[in-house]
Formats: sequence, structure tokens, C-alpha cells
Amino acid sequence: MNWGIFVTMAIILNGVDASVAIRSEMSAEVAQFVAKGHRPPHLVAILVGTDGGSMTYVGAKKKACDEIGFTGTVLHFEDTINEDFLLSEIDRINNDSNIDGLIVQLPLPKHISEEKVTEAILPSKDVDGFHDINMGRLAKGSHGVKPATPFGITLLLKHYGIEIAGKHAVVLGRSNIVGRPMSMLLSAAADYGNATVTLCHSRTQNLKEYTLQADILVVALGRPGFVTADMVKPGAVVVDVGTTRVDDASKKAGWKLMGDVDYPAIEPIASAITPVPKGVGPMTITGLMMNTLVVYKEKFGS
Ligand code: NAP
Repeated sequence: MNWGIFVTMAIILNGVDASVAIRSEMSAEVAQFVAKGHRPPHLVAILVGTDGGSMTYVGAKKKACDEIGFTGTVLHFEDTINEDFLLSEIDRINNDSNIDGLIVQLPLPKHISEEKVTEAILPSKDVDGFHDINMGRLAKGSHGVKPATPFGITLLLKHYGIEIAGKHAVVLGRSNIVGRPMSMLLSAAADYGNATVTLCHSRTQNLKEYTLQADILVVALGRPGFVTADMVKPGAVVVDVGTTRVDDASKKAGWKLMGDVDYPAIEPIASAITPVPKGVGPMTITGLMMNTLVVYKEKFGS
């Protein structure tokens, strides 16, 4: 054999393909509930203001609801609404038994407290999994909703048959929406966990020493191209959560999305890798949909 031309092919962890498959299974489940006479699951998304990114994300969530057979309602408010109004809307939805899940698209205008809003959502309807009670349950390893992005990543790994148990997972970034809950999920005594986890952040010294030990490397920094090939162990599974808009005059929009890892250099040495876009992004929405189905099934049985 000519070893000079021996190249391993990384599995491309395609979040669009995985989402199509997972959402179609969910759709079949919903159809069974509806056939038994139940209403479909109902997810409400609140959008405040006209931020382009937020409008795109909410639009994609509504589209996913339509595809799966959920009722998807978008409540779109002007960014001049005050905090009390938003809290009263949340209270109204909390008390509506025909609504299973509620998300408030972040970021919110500066005069509205994201902390207050997140905590106002009933934990049983908090399908983003950001409420303190749901984060606490996750920390304890209890069942329930899980933050959508890390949950979506575990669904993606599972879809592609990536073994997690017993592996060393290294997570870069400790945000409350991605890095920290990701570390909790991967270390949980559950079928999507049982990894040994190292959580790194901006105060970690000798970062490369840790990344080189990773069987599974999850990167959530918001720093385009930060992870280079010399930081990755050959054969590692690399999950790139980063999505930063960078200028690109060749694109109609004038920008493109860039991940946190140097994909062209790392793809040849990884055993599996997520692209950006079409990697983690669609799985975040699939995680959100799965959470909505989970809370719905808690009401109507499995
Ligand atoms: P964040 O809240 O800004 O957190 C970034 C983390 O990176 C922090 O914990 C920070 O450490 C750490 N960090 C920054 N520079 C570092 C360095 N040089 N070395 C080591 N750690 C460093 O970000 P986030 O909300 O988690 O988002 C991260 C990225 O994921 C962003 O690009 C975001 O757009 C993307 N994202 C994508 C999805 C999706 O669905 N695809 C969902 C959510 C987020 P400190 O804590 O020490 O400051």
C-alpha cells in the first residue's frame, strides 16, 4: 500500500440531514397522538424587535413546527414594549393549558431584563431549558428539558452513532446556554453522557494541552477559526458551535457564517466534524422541538 496517499475520511455530522430524519420520526409520533383525538403540541415564540438574526431564527422555528405537525405561534412585539407588558404576556401563556412550550427569543432590548423574563416562564413550559429550575435539574442529572443547543448536539452524535460513554470530552466555553450545560449533559449518567469532561474557558492555562487530549472536542467560543489543526488529536470528533458573521463581499448578504474551528485544516485529521453552517444550527431547533414533544407527552402520555 502507498501510505503517502492514505487519507482517512471524516464523517461529516450534517445537522440538516440528521434533523430531517429526527423530525420525521417526531412527526409520525405527533400524528399518532392526533389520531387518538389529542390536539397537536403547541409552541409559542415571542419575538421583540426586528433584529435580523432573531427574525431568521424565529422563522426557522415556526417552519420546523409546521413541518413536524406542531402548532407554532409567533407573537411579534415592537421593541418599545415595556418589561411589565412582556411579563404579563408570559403569565397569560403560562396559564394557557393549550400551550405546551414557550420561548422568548434573545437578545431582548436593553430595557428588559433577560434574567427576569427567563425566570418568569413556567419551568414546565421552558422548552429552551434556561430556567434556573431546569438548569438545576440538569446539574442533578434528572430527566426533563435540556438546553436546546447542547441537547441538539447529543442528538446529532447519537444519530451518527458516535460513542460518548467513557470518552474524554473537552468543552471550550462555559456560557450558560452552550458550554456549561454541554459539560453537564456529556458527564451525566445517561445514554447521551457518561463521558469524562474537561471544561475550558478564557482563564484556562495551556489550552492546547487539554484540546489534544479530547476524543470529543466541543467548541463554543464565538472566535472564528480559533481552533487550529495542531490543537486537535488525530481521530477526534469535533463539534463546532461557533457562528460568527464575518464580512464576505462575494455573498449577496455581504457576510458569511464562520465557525470557531479551522475546518479545512481539521477535517482531514478528525474522525467526524460538524460543518458551519448546516451543523449544530439546525440541531438547536431540533433540540427545541424535541423538548416541546417531551413536555407534551408528559401531559398526554407516551
Ligand atoms: P459566550 O457567552 O460569549 O461565551 C464564550 C465562552 O468562550 C466564554 O465562556 C469564554 O470564557 C470563552 N472564551 C472566549 N475566549 C476564549 C479563549 N481565548 N480561550 C478559551 N475560552 C475562551 O458565547 P456562547 O453564547 O456560548 O456562544 C458561542 C458561540 O456559539 C457563538 O459564536 C454563538 O453565536 C454560537 N452559538 C451557536 C448556536 C447554534 O445554534 N449554532 C447556539 C448558541 C451559540 P469566559 O467565560 O472566561 O469569558
